Amino acid sequence: MTKQVPATHPRLKSLLIRERLVNGFTRGLVAREGLIAHGRGEAFDYLLGEKTSAFALDAIQAAAATLLLARQPIISVNGNVAAVSARDVIKLSKYAKAPLEVNLFYRDKQRELAIERKLLEYGAAKVYGVGSHASARLPELDSERRKVDPRGILVADVVVIPLEDGDRAEALVKMGKKIIAIDLNPLSRTASVADITIVDNITRAIPSLINAIKGISNLAGDEKQKIVGKFDNKRVLAKSLEIIRGAIT
Ligand code: ATP
Ligand code: MG
Repeated sequence: MTKQVPATHPRLKSLLIRERLVNGFTRGLVAREGLIAHGRGEAFDYLLGEKTSAFALDAIQAAAATLLLARQPIISVNGNVAAVSARDVIKLSKYAKAPLEVNLFYRDKQRELAIERKLLEYGAAKVYGVGSHASARLPELDSERRKVDPRGILVADVVVIPLEDGDRAEALVKMGKKIIAIDLNPLSRTASVADITIVDNITRAIPSLINAIKGISNLAGDEKQKIVGKFDNKRVLAKSLEIIRGAIT
């Protein structure tokens, strides 16, 4: 912890996450726009009481089952994700047997390399989507945002997209991929097009997702299928909005 953030501050966790983002920005991982996107997330987190709701836990269970049932899952990593949750996504990658792919809204070679470097430094086995490896293209998107790795997102059946833009989430859905989003805004396009939306802060959601995977990894395939079958994403989004409404009235 730095000297600037007093340990007794009621928003300590939130301030420490900001600090990680600013460090990520200084190290060239986070785009300026990423700092602003984080602010939008924070506002929703504030309204959600900065805790994981029971509905987010339902989505986390369904996400865990979906990842364990996947043929070829993948986890998309952008600058914000690498700045605040590098260790967590690497751990998730191991438990879910899903590789990590750098996937940037504002593609920039230096930033891709900085993100790759941090992930490798923190123990990732390999990182897809960097430089010329992002040689495949998603349909219906403009040039830089289309690029994906032909070994990764392009051929995956399940894609975990934390903090993703709505256009790209939609493009992935149109390609027939199963999408697990982590997004604090239950009204975002990403949240509404995803098959499973975890409306929670990535810093809480990924550790819970890892625990959920550990908890159900020994279940039979049809038991995992049942968890997925009974999950209702529209309900989860509606319930998240109810929590927000309750915080305001
Ligand atoms: P969309 O394009 O899906 O309609 P948007 O334009 O509002 O959404 P983007 O800037 O494209 O949002 O993506 C950032 C999303 O990530 C926002 O919805 C924001 O709420 C969410 N977000 C930001 N920080 C976090 C975080 N720490 N944990 C979870 N979600 C976050
Ligand atoms: Mg957007």
